[in-house]
Amino acid sequence: QGDATANIGVVGLAVMGSNLARNLASREGNTVAVFNRSRSKTDELLEAHPEAEFVPSFSYEDFAASLSKPRTAIIMVKAGRPTDFVIDELVKVFEPGDIIVDGGNALFTDTIRREKAVRETGINYVGMGVSGGEEGALLGPSIMTGGSDEAWATLGPILKSIAAVAEGEPCVTHVGHDGAGHFVKMVHNGIEYADMQLIAEAYDLIRHATGKTPAEIADVFAEWNRGELESYLIEITAEVLRQVDAETGKPLVDIILDQAGAKGTGAWTVQTALDLGVPVSGIAEATFARSLSSHPEQREVSRDLPGPDVSFGVEHLTGEDADNIIEQVRLALYASKIVAYSQGFDEIRAGAKQYDWAIDLGAVSKIFRGGCIIRAQFLNRIAEAYDAEPELPVLLTAPYFVEALGRAQSPWRNIVSLAAAAGIPAPAFSSSLAYYDGLRAERLPAALIQGQRDFFGAHTYRRIDKEGTFHTLWSGDR
Ligand code: NAP
Repeated sequence: QGDATANIGVVGLAVMGSNLARNLASREGNTVAVFNRSRSKTDELLEAHPEAEFVPSFSYEDFAASLSKPRTAIIMVKAGRPTDFVIDELVKVFEPGDIIVDGGNALFTDTIRREKAVRETGINYVGMGVSGGEEGALLGPSIMTGGSDEAWATLGPILKSIAAVAEGEPCVTHVGHDGAGHFVKMVHNGIEYADMQLIAEAYDLIRHATGKTPAEIADVFAEWNRGELESYLIEITAEVLRQVDAETGKPLVDIILDQAGAKGTGAWTVQTALDLGVPVSGIAEATFARSLSSHPEQREVSRDLPGPDVSFGVEHLTGEDADNIIEQVRLALYASKIVAYSQGFDEIRAGAKQYDWAIDLGAVSKIFRGGCIIRAQFLNRIAEAYDAEPELPVLLTAPYFVEALGRAQSPWRNIVSLAAAAGIPAPAFSSSLAYYDGLRAERLPAALIQGQRDFFGAHTYRRIDKEGTFHTLWSGDR
């Protein structure tokens, strides 16, 4: 130890950190220093992977001494207080010009705060979003990097060597300064929530309408995965639906409790969108749908509330009718997915403006193509849209999406009305369509809201025919 032999280090050797360390060690030219708070994880990693030739340390001082300059260390520990603790320790043993990278799931405002504080010491601080779970960390994640240009100069080539590759390009980019990487990672997760909810609604509608078994619906998703919906989430949906419970022999999806968990990144995306004034209704509905599912006591007392007379399920559709409804659901899913991604990219655009980040939205869509959970064919279309028009104000107005939305029009509306008529909850499908129609509307009833606001609070309004702000002396003025 203390020989300054490693060019990169990893602090935190739980599943993400150890896999990332192994990924780094497997690339030509890297020697990887490793450190974990409790010694056992380091010992286990060294024993299990001698081929990685890790340089272990058991104190922050030795860890710093084992790194060549500029020292570069990636922190992969629990987000929140533990991350602050590790940063404080590293700052004590690092020098100006060195680079501290946080690869955990930090809230971007924490990253902005930490970057500001660490910068004072002359040390570079980089918030880095890593997507793809443990497999991604090992084999190639999608990486969203923040921090300074100086840090990126050292870090960029190392990250390019470990990132996923999509169509020949590494899925990593310098998104923008300070918290930009973690901001984009947050919105990525929000989009993931919306995509998962939409897929779940599609499954539920098909099951109610056709009475098909989960295994049969798995075939539908496998088929969809060969077309324009091709994506990791559609692929794994087929596998989840096909899984049989070993104990009962029933479809596993029927055995799993229907209460969805969440770790908070969806909520962060929605909270941030509310602050920025960006309507991410699809992501919000997806987040709320998870909350609704997780209140068994409320669902229990609500089970006998009145519902519609008609419902799918009395008579299931079969043959061509079933095929027809499945195709309509597919188109409705595709259209709603376009809306969800458009809303997510809108939030990234608004964040960039608010926090002064020069984010290239096309480059962001390209790094989502590999390694991460929302990887999909479709992201190429988003990249093309931004390549053609970098300042595109609404993603779904790009020609390719206009065509797809045109194709989906009547099926989309039909599916949303069928769901409403049959009393099947389809919040993400419905809200995507409402958002779409809101954007399209020639006039919105927002004019009436302005009238109401002026009536009760003299909030004033603007007119369509002349400049300025106006207040009416309403007859009801008190
Ligand atoms: P984790 O369970 O979130 O964290 C465990 C690690 O944190 C252990 O190495 C632990 O050290 C360390 N730690 C906890 N408190 C500490 C402290 N006060 N000081 C020093 N170290 C401390 O591990 P993970 O699942 O591998 O995730 C690591 C990070 O990656 C997290 O921020 C997570 O949100 C993010 N992430 C995870 C995924 C995923 O799919 N799991 C995907 C992307 C990003 P000890 O061994 O000493 O307890």
